[in-house]
Amino acid sequence: MQNSDDQQIAAQLSKAIKEFWGYDDFRPQQLAAMTAVMKDQDSLAVFPTGAGKSLCFQAPAVCRDGLAVVVSPLISLMKDQVDSLKACWIKAALLNSSLSREEENEIAQQARAGELKLLYMAPERLLTDATHRLLKDSRLSFFAIDEAHCVSQWGHDFRPEYRQLSALKQLYPDASVHGYTATATAKVREDIVKQLAQTNCQVLVGSMDRPNLIYRVARRESGIDQFVDVINRHRGEAGIVYCISRKEVESTSAAFQQLGVTSLPYHAGLSAEERKQNQDAFLREEALVMVATVAFGMGIDKSNVRFVVHAGMPKSLEAYQQESGRAGRDGLEAECCMFYRAGDFMTWSRMLEQSDAGSGKAGAQSALKAVADFCNGTLCRHVELAAYFGETLDVKDCGACDVCLDQLPLVEDALKLGQKIVSCVYRVDQRFGADYVAQVLTGSQDKRILQNGHDKVSTYGLLADDAKRDIRDWTEQLIGQNFLARVGEYNTLQITDTGRQLLRGELTPRLLKPRQKTSGSKSTKQSLASWEGVDRVLFEKLKNLRSERASAQQVPAYVVFSDASLRDMARRRPSTLDSFRLINGVGQKKLDDYGEAFLSAIISHCQACDVTSDVKPPPPTSESSKAKLPGASALLAFPHFDAGLSVVETAKELGRAESTTMGYLNEYIRHQKIVDYTRWVDQETGSKVEAAIESVGPGPLKPIFLALNEEVDYNKIRIVQSCLENRQAATT
Ligand code: ADP
Ligand code: ZN
Repeated sequence: MQNSDDQQIAAQLSKAIKEFWGYDDFRPQQLAAMTAVMKDQDSLAVFPTGAGKSLCFQAPAVCRDGLAVVVSPLISLMKDQVDSLKACWIKAALLNSSLSREEENEIAQQARAGELKLLYMAPERLLTDATHRLLKDSRLSFFAIDEAHCVSQWGHDFRPEYRQLSALKQLYPDASVHGYTATATAKVREDIVKQLAQTNCQVLVGSMDRPNLIYRVARRESGIDQFVDVINRHRGEAGIVYCISRKEVESTSAAFQQLGVTSLPYHAGLSAEERKQNQDAFLREEALVMVATVAFGMGIDKSNVRFVVHAGMPKSLEAYQQESGRAGRDGLEAECCMFYRAGDFMTWSRMLEQSDAGSGKAGAQSALKAVADFCNGTLCRHVELAAYFGETLDVKDCGACDVCLDQLPLVEDALKLGQKIVSCVYRVDQRFGADYVAQVLTGSQDKRILQNGHDKVSTYGLLADDAKRDIRDWTEQLIGQNFLARVGEYNTLQITDTGRQLLRGELTPRLLKPRQKTSGSKSTKQSLASWEGVDRVLFEKLKNLRSERASAQQVPAYVVFSDASLRDMARRRPSTLDSFRLINGVGQKKLDDYGEAFLSAIISHCQACDVTSDVKPPPPTSESSKAKLPGASALLAFPHFDAGLSVVETAKELGRAESTTMGYLNEYIRHQKIVDYTRWVDQETGSKVEAAIESVGPGPLKPIFLALNEEVDYNKIRIVQSCLENRQAATT
């Protein structure tokens, strides 16, 4: 009973996201989050930036009767969402103080008449009497609380006005309440549920990893060459450069201007007017570099930020996750480069000491230490970041960080070098700090060393050819890898058990060569895939067209089309409106609004440059489909499928969402090379799907779905397609 309910809901949602947004498929966990809303079950979704949280309440709002109320802290963010919704033909509005009396009345009237699907407002507005009367008169469907971590004092961005949301459940006992946030530790999650007075709340936590982000971490050199290198890799694209201080923002931005890089500054010292102007310009324009302090970013919903540079070390990995997470929200590859200075740790540390953080200080210090370890780390950045948030990533070579891309310049004989440093710590009786040890190793004539007789120890001057700065760096790396530990008030160095193994030659550390420029130009797996087959010249033309349209309508560019859609257009180069409809991200409304214009740009480009049109994208290559080993969680599902359990049953056994389990089934089919789909899809439907694949060709599911008159759900199509691929592989 419940299953068929779920299936019906899934079909309804799937139809809606295709019709209004032009999306082929749900992102991981979206369906589960949407289902909770459809069923009025209170929920809290913690998905990383870019996971597509907004769709999780927007799609159900469209599918359900009545009015959904969305609470969000920032006006700019709400305005963007409302614009985007309108561009998809969805009736949405925003109540805020900038509206005139008449505008406000009109919106209220629409809400009462049941004409609106979504109504956005700030928490202060929600709890006014006027709003209360309005909502009592309207047919309310549910509440969505965006940036829900703001309700918790334990979160990183507590907002007192959010506290009042605890009254919602009393005022509207019949409406379900759904929270959404990108970062919340277990403690914060618990607090949110409590503060929002959610009952029987379903908490969904997505993986914090962002596989489309390429992380690079390097020592900062003087000047701005390193930043310019990054910007040059992204000509014509938007990015953010974060600096620690306002002064640095000003000087960096000025230097960029001199070099002809279009950039604007942003920090709390600018007037509100200036900040707004600069932020609007960033949202509107394609190729603008924002040089900013961390004051910039909250609520910036721009999906095609292609790079985020940190000009110094951030104060915590939470902050880093948030700030770097502003890149690549559209799911396409984006680059996050952090350049840290040895002094950054002390700068932050001092700021902390001077602040009145009280009991929070110890926590802040340990957060700071974790970033320092991350900087000095030599293991996969994705794995390390995820580990910090309590998640074990099962990847060997992420293909998207400087470590895995072999861009870390490693010292060749790290064992010997490590032994020299650790044994020097031993020679000075583990009673001194890193600076002192480095001085002994370089053979310094410092008075203290001579007084202590440390110019007589066997390790004195052992690294005389190396710079003290480099020895300090290596020491930090050894600490990060737990060969040495800093203890006590004076941060004296001690040798750990692991360090003793190093001395015995049983373990080898990974140590970085003294800073040198890395090429950084090496393409990653990510960028190869998403640019494959894209006509770059056409892509640029389409981008210009998008800018024109966006400024004419006074909306940000991505409201017209995302970068992903433009790439898909420049890849497939459709020649008719029918084939244009197959583009990823093209729903009915976008087809009506922009179809003609973009189509004619594509056609004239293909004619002028003699390029073929209506290219069918290649079917998934063996690279992407077969070579990939099933993930550990998928493997757990395999015995259940072996035993003949259905997706629904397996989902229950594993305590996973059906959508997730469906993904496991596909991995199962691929991995076990199953060719017979009739266990999951009846023969009649299967034959229809086969015929459709035959006629439109294998590859993306949307054309197949359309060819089947939208009557067969995506899951079944995917199962059949995977089995056919296996059949083909078996015969070739
Ligand atoms: P979040 O709020 O989780 O950071 P957003 O809601 O801003 O993420 O979504 C990020 C981007 O992903 C947006 O451009 C959105 O349109 C797109 N998106 C969301 N869901 C899907 C989907 N199922 N298929 C394709 N694109 C999607
Ligand atoms: Zn990696």
